[in-house]
Amino acid sequence: MGAHADQEKMKGVDPLNLLTVDLEDWFHICEVEHLLPRKDWDRLTSTVVNDTERLLRLLQRSRSRATFFVLGYVAERHPDLIHRIHQMGHEIAYHGWDHELVYRLAPHEFRHILQKGIKCIETLIGKRPIGFRAPQWSINDNSIWALEILAEEGFVYDSSMAPLKFVGNEAYPRLPNQVSTPAGSLWELPPLILKTPLGHYPAGGGWGLRCLPYPILKQSVRWLNRRHIPALFYFHPREFSRKRSVAGLPPAKKFVLHGGIWASETQLLRLLTDFHFTAVGQYLFSRTSSDDLCGYP
Ligand SMILES: [Zn+2]
Repeated sequence: MGAHADQEKMKGVDPLNLLTVDLEDWFHICEVEHLLPRKDWDRLTSTVVNDTERLLRLLQRSRSRATFFVLGYVAERHPDLIHRIHQMGHEIAYHGWDHELVYRLAPHEFRHILQKGIKCIETLIGKRPIGFRAPQWSINDNSIWALEILAEEGFVYDSSMAPLKFVGNEAYPRLPNQVSTPAGSLWELPPLILKTPLGHYPAGGGWGLRCLPYPILKQSVRWLNRRHIPALFYFHPREFSRKRSVAGLPPAKKFVLHGGIWASETQLLRLLTDFHFTAVGQYLFSRTSSDDLCGYP
């Protein structure tokens, strides 16, 4: 960390950025059911505990808090891991039960999955989750009805709408924003996106984050932070794993999952060194009316 960044951290000038983790196993990959069918999952060797422990050590060293969007499948099989994450001061939120794409569900099925997850998490940690992230940003124009159900089921925020062409819509807001639904309002927290002449670039996580030269990333976060806007990042435990290959993946999927994967840990460590991070729930409750998210091009 440079002296200047160090000074800024000490003075607390930097606002809080948001760190999120989709807590799932290496085989929870959307749209490859023919390679990793649900019925086979219980026979596969899980790496989620080891991979997450590695990630937790990195967070602990930098005293950073994160939101863990927990998959019900993982919570049911590894309750001790969820306890441990919670006890370390991180936020437990929800990521669906069996990694279902929301736009493939009927509204009543989505509600059932939410209720199942709320019950499971509440039983484990004694607290209801207030945040949700859909697998593969699958709340989009085809499943916008899901926001009202989230509000009805007591969720305070969602982080499932990506302002990206292939999984979402570039017209979606790039900043934390409040969405009105007939059941009340909900905060929507999109990942960090960079505007480029070729369209929106997914800088907040996945291949986009791993392949982006760090100076560009750092400059973008600083630019936002100077305007008191948090940047939201997301990681998966499998990005910190030794087990990385899935035979037969289509090339595009392979790139999305593994492109630049060697850089995951380095990029995260650099971010943790240069910036302050916290959990989404904590950020939302610490916001005051003087926080201004205007002036973002
Ligand atoms: Zn996921």
